[in-house]
Amino acid sequence: MADFGGAELETFRSEVRDWLTANYPAELKKPDARTDPEAVWGGRAFEGSDDPQIVWMRRMAEQGWTAPTWPRDIGGGGLTPQQARVLDQELAAGRYRPALLSFGLWMLGPVLLEYANEAQKTEHLPKIVQGQIRWCQGYSEPGAGSDLAGLQTRCEDKGDHWLINGSKVWTSYADKADWCFCLVRTDASKKHEGISFVLIDMHTPGVETRPIQLISGESPFCETFFTEVKIPKGNLVGRINGGWEIAKRLLQYERQNISAGFGDGGGVGGGSAGDLAQLAKRYLGEDGGELAERDLRRRITENKMNFQALRQTIARSAAESRAGNGPSATTSIIKYAAAEFAKERAELMVEALGAQGLGWEGEGYAQPEITAVRGWLRTKANSIEGGTSEINLNVVAKRVLGLPDPK
Ligand SMILES: Cc1cc2nc3c(=O)[nH]c(=O)nc-3n(C[C@H](O)[C@H](O)[C@H](O)COP(=O)(O)OP(=O)(O)OC[C@H]3O[C@@H](n4cnc5c(N)ncnc54)[C@H](O)[C@@H]3O)c2cc1C
Repeated sequence: MADFGGAELETFRSEVRDWLTANYPAELKKPDARTDPEAVWGGRAFEGSDDPQIVWMRRMAEQGWTAPTWPRDIGGGGLTPQQARVLDQELAAGRYRPALLSFGLWMLGPVLLEYANEAQKTEHLPKIVQGQIRWCQGYSEPGAGSDLAGLQTRCEDKGDHWLINGSKVWTSYADKADWCFCLVRTDASKKHEGISFVLIDMHTPGVETRPIQLISGESPFCETFFTEVKIPKGNLVGRINGGWEIAKRLLQYERQNISAGFGDGGGVGGGSAGDLAQLAKRYLGEDGGELAERDLRRRITENKMNFQALRQTIARSAAESRAGNGPSATTSIIKYAAAEFAKERAELMVEALGAQGLGWEGEGYAQPEITAVRGWLRTKANSIEGGTSEINLNVVAKRVLGLPDPK
């Protein structure tokens, strides 16, 4: 689609607004609308479902607006970066629910567009746009987290298929996913150059998942085992032993998307902070219309200022990425800053609740208080998932600042 601005962009804005108003399911407009919390992730489990969230996802997907800037021939919206920004703005202004949350959209799709062959693009990209397949990420292993290239899951060439043996850990939503994008070892004699990137149907015989429980009480991720798993030869993306380059590129998309979540004021597990100062006044008392505790007041104000700065930086970096060649190593700066910010905000939230911020469950605590405490525990993972803060600082030192390795 041609790039256009000014008046044309405003016409586009009003078309978007009209379309959203006409197509947002009436059930979702009710403030207490209840949908299956898993529905927003789509996947085979929701095939044929009439959950209003799924209806919303399908309508947005038909427009290509679950993947607004992807090409139209694979189901995307074909929008220019400027148009996509208008769509984002209208979705935010109208407080529409997200149509689809998806590792396929955030991580796998962009690298398939760059590295996959035509058959793989045709097979997988339209299903990602439509939310028909839910993907999980098989990177980390018990001995390979920060040192990801130390991964040992074996993938052998058996002539007419690949044979996979090994295990992954911390695989988010593996028990709910339909497919997994996975790093495997195809050459044991080399480290980075012995890794390949493959796609595995989670319903293949020999794939097993076991959920792991977090301190927040949730079980969002699993151990994943592959025992004598056969996958077709066509499921290798890129060239054999060329997976490390794809893996690193995907991590840039992952870090960009994790940070974008923080920029919305939510973030993975961060929860909405609302107005922290108002909350603290309610729980801890006022002095002349201001929060009585001056030190907490100062820290809340600082956090709010940092949030504004972070949000602007994330928006600028996302716009640069859309207009250029996708994300770069600078996503590590934002991932690091956003994780620290989200953890600090969650700490302040619990502090603002005073003694009510000590609740885990029970009649003495309201649901939002319990949610805040559990959300605070969840934010502890923000500086681990998608690469730890230390590893992101290493990336910034080496790739952004060009500093040498320590002797
Ligand atoms: C909520 C959550 C969801 C996740 N989802 C997924 C998923 O879907 N798929 C997936 O594959 N993985 C997932 N992970 C795993 C995540 O990517 C790893 O936990 C992370 O990369 C760290 O690896 P590790 O846990 O093995 O820690 P380690 O690598 O053992 O690190 C332990 C500590 O040592 C530090 N450290 C290690 N190496 C260095 C170094 N060179 N310099 C300085 N410090 C260092 C680390 O920063 C960390 O503090 C998830 C993790 C979390 C918390």
